[in-house]
Amino acid sequence: MKHFSLLFIFLVILLATSYSDAFTRNNFPKDFLFGSATSAYQWEGAVAEDGRTPSVWDTFSHSYNRGNGDITSDGYHKYKEDVKLMAEMGLESFRFSISWSRLIPNGRGLVNPKGLLFYKNLIKELKIHGIKPHVTLYHYDLPQCLEDEYGGWINRKIIEDFTAFADVCFREFGEDVKLWTTINEATIFVIGSYDQGISPPGHCSPNKFINCTTGNSSTEPYLAGHNILLAHASASKLYKLKYKSKQRGSIGLSIFAFGLFPYTNSKEDEIATQRAKAFFYGWLLKPLVFGDYPDEMKKTVGSRLPVFSKEESEQVKGSSDFIGIIHYLTLYVTNQPSPSIFPSMSEGFYKDMGVYMISTGNSSFLAWEATPWGLEGILEYIKQSYNNPPIYILENGMPMERVSTLQDTQRIEFIQAYIGAVLNAIKNGSDTRGYFVWSMIDLYELLTGYTTSFGMYYVNFSDPGRKRTPKLSAFWYTGFLNGTIDIASQDTIQLQSNFSGSSSL
Ligand code: BGC
Repeated sequence: MKHFSLLFIFLVILLATSYSDAFTRNNFPKDFLFGSATSAYQWEGAVAEDGRTPSVWDTFSHSYNRGNGDITSDGYHKYKEDVKLMAEMGLESFRFSISWSRLIPNGRGLVNPKGLLFYKNLIKELKIHGIKPHVTLYHYDLPQCLEDEYGGWINRKIIEDFTAFADVCFREFGEDVKLWTTINEATIFVIGSYDQGISPPGHCSPNKFINCTTGNSSTEPYLAGHNILLAHASASKLYKLKYKSKQRGSIGLSIFAFGLFPYTNSKEDEIATQRAKAFFYGWLLKPLVFGDYPDEMKKTVGSRLPVFSKEESEQVKGSSDFIGIIHYLTLYVTNQPSPSIFPSMSEGFYKDMGVYMISTGNSSFLAWEATPWGLEGILEYIKQSYNNPPIYILENGMPMERVSTLQDTQRIEFIQAYIGAVLNAIKNGSDTRGYFVWSMIDLYELLTGYTTSFGMYYVNFSDPGRKRTPKLSAFWYTGFLNGTIDIASQDTIQLQSNFSGSSSL
């Protein structure tokens, strides 16, 4: 670690001298949480060990040729080493998810003692190092047996099973876990998994782009979205009735949010953008805050959009103590036919939304352009339209070619631009309370397998020991978290040349 400290001191001097309107970690409220994240299937590996059964993600990844999470970064065996890296980094919070099929291998019923022990040990290790766990209950990995039995999220039976799974988690881990997210990026999960067929369990209507074996893009996304809201609300109600007074934690739902801006200043594009916001944000946020779907959606989707009973509406309304935001990209929205970044399917969510979207820059899976104003726009919109709820930015980060360089300067620039956006939003009154970099280390990636990664630590996936090596971003985040790095701009060239002397792939 000696080279780590020397490099670090150098970075601090360099960065501290080159900024004009600099800010540090200390400009954020003291109780604001800076963290980093992973998810169970992407980090743990050990898929067939100690009683875990397959999830829909195992099945999905084994059905095409993009790698799988069988071993991945081997977090299941290397969690102590990873927590040590987090502690050295000064991480304040670690966001991870619980593999439902590791904890309850049959989806419901008996708890697997070895699965339970793994999460207890992980949480204990975090506690020893003063790192607060932020636990996501569901991150794309439904036990395959529940999918086979009744079709998973498109069946209301999921509500009872999810609530029972959540009950086990609250009971077993709740003494040390104060932040719970029920479902990861529920919006894009539903769109990817039940409209587009690009994420597990891979449902879509027959179309010329993707060969799904089952699905109906015009109904299933809305059904799954509805059941997610009811399952979330049911788990949240249980937490409030049975645990909250003792455990004193918070529970929220997370959505994936693109930044959305009109392509031109025409009235039509402004209206199209409002419609896109109703579909992308309001779909789940409006029921959570006001108890019903947005009018724009009800009008277009009609009878395909499920209806809340009075009792359901009351249960969903106010069921999120906070809103989790997962944000990566910003899009321009227009009413005019133009190249959309998504395949234009003949039915489904995008067809219903009825707008065209244009990328603000490079939206391939490499080196995204930072558009921090996109995140500021989301936070401002949520503040104004949804009663300024507490917010956690649960994921933000940049993919780069995985086996290329440890000098991920572009990633640093990306992350610091977004942290700056969060600070601006807070100054403008947003109740944003945390920011998590995706991802702590290289992982198995949902859409690109092992070709690109977001990690601040490089993982050598050819090495049976899965050696971890810090990238430049790991040094940078360490400095930022220690409150010694000022952000505004940086001397990239000097930074890179210094780093290249101390580390290579
Ligand atoms: C998902 C992660 C994924 C990341 C990068 C997020 O939307 O929650 O599981 O790895 O995007 O693609």
